[in-house]
Parts: sequence; C-alpha cells; structure tokens
Amino acid sequence: MGWPVEHSLSPAMHNAAFAALGMTDWRYDLLPIQPDIVRQSLKILRDEGGYTGVNVTVPHKQAVMPYVKPDAIAQALGAANTIDFRNNSATNTDVAGLIDDLTANSVKLNGENVLILGAGGAARAAVYGLVHAGANVTVTNRTAERAQIMLADLTLSAGIRSAQFKPLEEAAQNDFSLVVNCTPVGMWPNVDASPWSDDVDFPAGVTLYDMIYRPERTRLIETCESRGGRAIGGLGMLVRQGAAAFKIWTGKAAPVDVMYEAAQAALAAKK
Ligand code: NAP
Repeated sequence: MGWPVEHSLSPAMHNAAFAALGMTDWRYDLLPIQPDIVRQSLKILRDEGGYTGVNVTVPHKQAVMPYVKPDAIAQALGAANTIDFRNNSATNTDVAGLIDDLTANSVKLNGENVLILGAGGAARAAVYGLVHAGANVTVTNRTAERAQIMLADLTLSAGIRSAQFKPLEEAAQNDFSLVVNCTPVGMWPNVDASPWSDDVDFPAGVTLYDMIYRPERTRLIETCESRGGRAIGGLGMLVRQGAAAFKIWTGKAAPVDVMYEAAQAALAAKK
C-alpha cells in the first residue's frame, strides 16, 4: 500500500516468486491508499480483506506505526514497510535488504569506514544496518541539521552513538572503503544529477552502493568507476527487502533469483 503505487515493481517480483514455488492461492496486489484513510484501510485489509500482510511504502511508512506492533528495527527507524496481519507485527526490511545485498556482493562491512549520502528514511535504515554490521559510519547530507536530527534520533531509539556527521568536503578527506547513496539524486528522469559535488574529488578505488535502480547506471556510478571503483546499483536491495517480507508472510525462503529477474523485466518494461 502506498500513494501513489503504480510505479511499484513489487507485484511482479512477488507474484513471480509465488508462481515459481507453486503457491497458486497467494497473490500480491497493488493498493493505492490515500494518506487520510491509512488507519481504516489497515483494519479493513486485516479484518475483511483476506490479506496475510502488507508492504507499506511512501508516504505511509511512519503513519502505520501507531496501529501495529513494531519490532526493534521498525521502532529504531520510526518506520515500517512490512506488516504481518496474523499478529499485527511490523518490521522494516530495508535494513536486511541493504545488508543482505552488500553481503551477497561480498562487500566487507565489519571494521570498514563507510560514508552515507543522505539523511532520509533510506539513510536511517543504512546507518542502523551498517553500524550493527560493525562498520564505522559517517553521514553527509545537503541539510546538516537533518542529518544531526537523524543521528540524535538513532541514539535515542537504538543507542547508536558511533555514527557522525561531516560536511562532504571534510568527509571526503577520510579513507572510505564504501560509499552508500541514500538520496534520490540522479534518479530517472533527472539522470544528469549527482549527489556528489563536482568541486570535491570522488574517492579513488572505493565500492559505491547506489540505492537508485532507475537508471541502472547513474551518473554517480559512472563517477565511481571513472575513479577506479566498483559500483553496485540498488535493484538487489529492492529484491532482498522483498525477499525478507516474503519469508515473514509465507515462512518460505524466497527464490531471490526469480524475484530479481522479474523485477529487472518489470523495470525494463517501464523504459
Ligand atoms: P527521503 O526521505 O526523501 O530523503 C532524501 C534525502 O536525499 C535527504 O537526505 C535529502 O537531503 C537528500 N536529497 C534530496 N534531494 C537532494 C538534492 N537535490 N541534493 C542533495 N541532496 C538531496 O528519501 P528516502 O526515502 O530516504 O529515499 C532515498 C532514495 O533511496 C530514493 O531514491 C529511494 O528510491 C531510494 N531507496 C531505494 C531502496 C531500494 O530498495 N533500492 C529502498 C529505499 C529507498 P535534505 O535532507 O537536504 O533534503
């Protein structure tokens, strides 16, 4: 459920997973839900809709929190993207989505210095996941105050104290092995934009994880590769956050490769 949701790749990947596992009585629907009817919609879907659970996307991830039982991750982030109606529990699988995809791509995290670009919901998930994976996290953001509020919130909600804010010019002086773009800058249709200032050299030889998956190759990915780095786009994160939700609802391990192919095909069909 979201508003709007027409752009979502999730039905394609979940329905492909149900088909691959022969789960013919399962179906994933798109539910456009206006912001003023979130509470009633949850109740109707749960009590009358026959739904096992729901994925929650923009702009409802925070709004659903008072009506569910959030786990430690959703509480820490103040936002949920997956609800299981059978016990009304809620979590945020963006954390698993990012960390599982970094791990699947053999990116080392424990003890590594990581720079996060952005301070919105996706950045919160990244800071939480990366600190718990043992990384030393620095955050940079266009609006310093928003990053400072995010870090203060994470200290209060999750006891995270080690992550720090630095302006880009200062942060770029440090030695990072991984940069994670958690901003929408460079996303289609504004593909010529980059969250990295042209006035600051992009670090050489680092790994970049760009959460954007449309386009597959952002300007930031090209900058990273031109500096001898390795770049990974965000489609794998989308698939793996979906795979984590699939496991919660069905109790079955998700066919990640099937979901990836379906998401990629749905994305190509949008071009
Ligand atoms: P959000 O809450 O709106 O946060 C956006 C962040 O980007 C803010 O820190 C904002 O900075 C920064 N930003 C926006 N426009 C900017 C610009 N022109 N220049 C510099 N900074 C700018 O968004 P979100 O929910 O965190 O999502 C961020 C991105 O991650 C989106 O593209 C989303 O699609 C992607 N995402 C991908 C996945 C995946 O599975 N691959 C999952 C979650 C999110 P200010 O604070 O200064 O406004």
